[in-house]
Amino acid sequence: MKIETIAVHAGNQTDKTSGAVIQPITLSTTFERGSDGGYPSGYMYSRANNPNRKQLENVLAQLEGGTDAAAFASGNAAGMAVFQALKPGTHIILPDDMYHGLRHQVKNLFAGILEFDFIDVNDAGILQQHIKSNTGLLWIETPSNPLLKITDIRQAASIANKHNIKVVCDNTFATPICQQPLALGADMVMHSTTKYFGGHSDLMGGALITAQQDELWQRVRQVQEMGGAIPSPADCYYMTRSIKTLPYRVRGHVSNAQKLAEYLQQHPKVEQVLYPGLSTHPQHEIAKNQMSAFGAMLSFIVKGNEAQARKVANSVQLFTQATSLGGVESLIEHRASIEGPDTSTPFNLLRVSVGLEHIDDLVADMEQALNII
Ligand SMILES: *Cc1c(COP(=O)(O)O)cnc(C)c1O
Repeated sequence: MKIETIAVHAGNQTDKTSGAVIQPITLSTTFERGSDGGYPSGYMYSRANNPNRKQLENVLAQLEGGTDAAAFASGNAAGMAVFQALKPGTHIILPDDMYHGLRHQVKNLFAGILEFDFIDVNDAGILQQHIKSNTGLLWIETPSNPLLKITDIRQAASIANKHNIKVVCDNTFATPICQQPLALGADMVMHSTTKYFGGHSDLMGGALITAQQDELWQRVRQVQEMGGAIPSPADCYYMTRSIKTLPYRVRGHVSNAQKLAEYLQQHPKVEQVLYPGLSTHPQHEIAKNQMSAFGAMLSFIVKGNEAQARKVANSVQLFTQATSLGGVESLIEHRASIEGPDTSTPFNLLRVSVGLEHIDDLVADMEQALNII
């Protein structure tokens, strides 16, 4: 089945008792046992599983071409499940440009439990140098947040595979519509479904999708069930509902992003545009090789200082100044100031989540804001 069909059908089950075309939200926390003490419905207790989460996990697995998926209460809970699934003392390698919330999680919550190095994982030589006998995991994020760096997934996976290292790819920026890391050799995909999957800035969630149900995956399932950082049945319902339009929304976002990137690139007050869909992006060729579309996140560096960059963010009308991404409404953010003191993001960089407004209106708005500085 094609991805549009999966998105519409794989998460929904017509209710056999009422005939309801749309699957109801099953609020029950507990499920009736059979006379033999078994669980004839396959459900026992909602932390372990429930019908809405099962359907959400089903569509998530199919969208990424995986064999199984686990849904979580947030992207960070999904990431944490991976780190918790590792044996204490495991060494993990992470990118030097990655989502700051997960970087902080690793540094603050896993210090003394896991060993870790944040390096330029795009450089094969540097990556190989950092592999140790206890390295168990390579974390990648591509395109990265907020510098839109591209990691060559095939190259990273082939290096890691030789050393029995699992590769987990944070695919939040790309979505499975633009990039499918499992097909490129990654072992697991992670999503903040708060972003494009939810798509309307009103729902939090996270997901892990696995290529194989190996030992690490069994541990992830244990963390999910025993740790309990699960989404509610209603959250699962709304996520499944949003996913039905994911392919069409993402294509609209991508089309707007490409045009906005091209507009910004020729603007005299813009020093640089970071968007993998531009031929000037240093890793455009790698992006072309592994992505079917280039996503809808971009960053641009204003010609000037932090104050001038902030003035642009303060002057746009249609772009709301807020963190997060992937919603139908465009957002703009001065990134360095949210990332904390360890940020290496330039202070004149603005990150944009390009929404589904008409591109002419977005360009006109950006034009008036850039003309103010
Ligand atoms: C938002 C985000 C996360 C964290 O997800 P939450 O749902 O906010 O917990 C992880 N990775 C990336 C790339 C993100 O954008």
